[in-house]
Amino acid sequence: MMYAAIIVDIPNKAVSKIFEYEVPESMVSFTKVGHRVLVPFGSRTIQGFIVELKETVDYDTTKLKPIAKLLDIEPVLKPELVELSIHIADYYVDNYINVIETILPAALKSNYKKVLVGHDDAAIDWINARPKGPEVKYLTKEELKELRVFIKEERITEETIIKQHTAPKKALAVYAIVDDMNLENAPKQLELFYEIQAASEPTLMRNLTERGYSNHLVNELYKKGYIEKTEVEIERDPFKNKVFEADKKKALNAEQQENFNQIKQSIDARQDDIFLLHGITGSGKTEVYLQAIDVALQNGQEAILLVPEISLTPQMANRFKSRFGDDVAVLHSGLSPGEKYDEWRKIKEGRARVSIGARSNIFAPFENLGIIIIDEEHETTYKQNERPHYHAVEVAKVRAKYNRCPIVLGSATPSIESYARAEKGVYKLLELTKRAVNQTPIDISVVDMAEEHKRGNISIISDTLQDKIIERIEKEEQIVLLLNRRGYANFQLCQDCGHVSTCPHCDISLTYHKRKQNLMCHYCGYEETVKKVCAACDSTSVTFRGLGTEQVEEILRDTFNTDVVRMDFDTTKQKGMHEKLLNTFERENISILLGTQMIAKGLDYPNVTLVGVLNADTMLNLPDFRASERTFQLLMQVAGRAGRHQLPGEVVFQTYNKEHYAIQFATNQDYMGFYREEMDFRKVARYAPYYFHVLFTISSERMADVIEGAHHVHQTLSQQMSNTSIIVGPAPSPIERMNKQYRFQILLKYKRESGLMDVLKALDDHFFETYKAKGLLLKIDINPSLI
Ligand code: ADP
Ligand code: ZN
Ligand code: ZN
Repeated sequence: MMYAAIIVDIPNKAVSKIFEYEVPESMVSFTKVGHRVLVPFGSRTIQGFIVELKETVDYDTTKLKPIAKLLDIEPVLKPELVELSIHIADYYVDNYINVIETILPAALKSNYKKVLVGHDDAAIDWINARPKGPEVKYLTKEELKELRVFIKEERITEETIIKQHTAPKKALAVYAIVDDMNLENAPKQLELFYEIQAASEPTLMRNLTERGYSNHLVNELYKKGYIEKTEVEIERDPFKNKVFEADKKKALNAEQQENFNQIKQSIDARQDDIFLLHGITGSGKTEVYLQAIDVALQNGQEAILLVPEISLTPQMANRFKSRFGDDVAVLHSGLSPGEKYDEWRKIKEGRARVSIGARSNIFAPFENLGIIIIDEEHETTYKQNERPHYHAVEVAKVRAKYNRCPIVLGSATPSIESYARAEKGVYKLLELTKRAVNQTPIDISVVDMAEEHKRGNISIISDTLQDKIIERIEKEEQIVLLLNRRGYANFQLCQDCGHVSTCPHCDISLTYHKRKQNLMCHYCGYEETVKKVCAACDSTSVTFRGLGTEQVEEILRDTFNTDVVRMDFDTTKQKGMHEKLLNTFERENISILLGTQMIAKGLDYPNVTLVGVLNADTMLNLPDFRASERTFQLLMQVAGRAGRHQLPGEVVFQTYNKEHYAIQFATNQDYMGFYREEMDFRKVARYAPYYFHVLFTISSERMADVIEGAHHVHQTLSQQMSNTSIIVGPAPSPIERMNKQYRFQILLKYKRESGLMDVLKALDDHFFETYKAKGLLLKIDINPSLI
């Protein structure tokens, strides 16, 4: 007899248990670990994943039920990924199915997603009314979230099922079925026939149309019986119609070569070394990545490259496609679930050996990894803010061990924790200290905006920056301006009573969007139309304060009489818009690119010679111990966009905190100075890397419940943690109310706690059992990115 340990997809996500089933005789010979199966569960049949096959079980075998069906010919999870899912679930205190569903493309989740909806029609109508129109058959996480809010608000309770879109895409193709034909009088048809006949496989109709043959013409041949039509499965290649300029290997400079040699040695020796590649912006880190990946490929191995958010860095994907061609799979959030599934299959079936993508690309189903590269390793996007709360670097370490391959963490501004590890020798430090092309240092100046206002300039653009912008426009060079605040105005203020319009669901002011004439909550998406009278006192003296990108775009156009490309969340919502806007900026040599921090990453345009940061302080005010680090990193990164090629670069930081060390060290481009000062602060304030953190967030619509739950967590921790640990709180979260939920938090700081994971797991289970009836939620975030 053979038995299978199976992780089943039960809607109650708090249950983390592995169930046992019998493998029917008829299936024994081809059932493998990693297979996706259907199994009976209670009165239903649900999806599950085999994680172990064994000959004996402790359980009473007469009570075991048999597996109902195998869902795929080949297992969807290789043994490494089965092991990895269990590791992640244990480490991040989560349940197994949740992790497996994170590792696999959405198309492989249960075929049916259960959604609580009262009237099928209402739900379908709601989905159809979404921007994507009636084509939305599959719900993204965000859409599902929105749907849940809708369902809650409508207080609908019945159950219906919305089918997910997973079917492979098919397209019409034609092939020749005769050798002889009589088409002497129809030369165009004859030409088409030869074209079809010459092909070794069916030709896609759409390819023929692209080549100028009309559907009518094809149908003529079909009617005459010379060709046959068929449907073929096609891949949805998002790069299909793109032409890549071939990109040749560059001769490495001395520093690059030295770093490359060390990485190569580690790849060849199959060592799981972790390198921290600290290289200033433009120093040629990417070229080192490209050549290191080439080593792995030459050795018959595969490579993973992680980037913070690939739709923000189209240039990066293009460089890799140009170098490695079809060997590259690109996985990013802009792809449809079908496209993602296709890229995933390419990797799994060995048709692509390099995969580039954001955080979840760390799960790319390779079998023989030669290297894992994580670019901009300090970015917070590598940490998932929802369950499972994994960090891509932590996952990379597990995969590197399994595959015996090195990891390269690259950054111009490594996270404080990473650099501390390098100083201790846990990571191997590699450095690139010079720019690869233009070695003239960037010229950075700081403008004190308080002084500026005192002198009478109340504009958001200082005189210094204004002069430099005009100079650039005259020279037909380009300017990048950063303003980390979208919308038109930050908030609506009543000048009579001081009332500020806030979100009814969150403790946050609403942002004014002029084009849409609405006030919007950037946290929960709540919108209302603008009213000209104060909601509190009926006064008509309401004004808008705090400039956002939408308004600054207008100001720039008016002041400089020039074209502006604006790039923020609002202008890039549509698929492909990032790339489109950047292309316009580059090709049409538009003077100004204005954007939120999404413009700080990866841009490499030769004609950009001036970078301005309109408000360097937005990040400093975050209620987070990493606020200074984030500010320093952002300023360093955006400064690196200037003068990357032949022309020299200049940078202006506008600030109200001229003396702040983050701004001073960024101005001096002094990473080490910042690192030392920040480490002193972390030591005194007892934060990472001196302590590890776990953040507990307790939330509910009822404040009293939240306080009760918070006390419960606090008490458990006080009893179970050693006296070397510090428990901070409970206290209200920085935004106390979000999405109608009140939120309290407790921060645990610890150096060493043996058995911590068991305590957390027990706490999580116990909390769930105790408070599930009240709908009280506990979120446990291990090593949180935001505190
Ligand atoms: P980083 O990733 O560190 O920001 P890049 O790899 O993008 O730096 O390099 C910056 C610029 O320098 C790019 O235009 C790149 O093509 C060029 N470059 C990098 N290495 C070399 C080299 N060895 N020789 C010539 N040009 C190089
Ligand atoms: Zn008022
Ligand atoms: Zn809100």
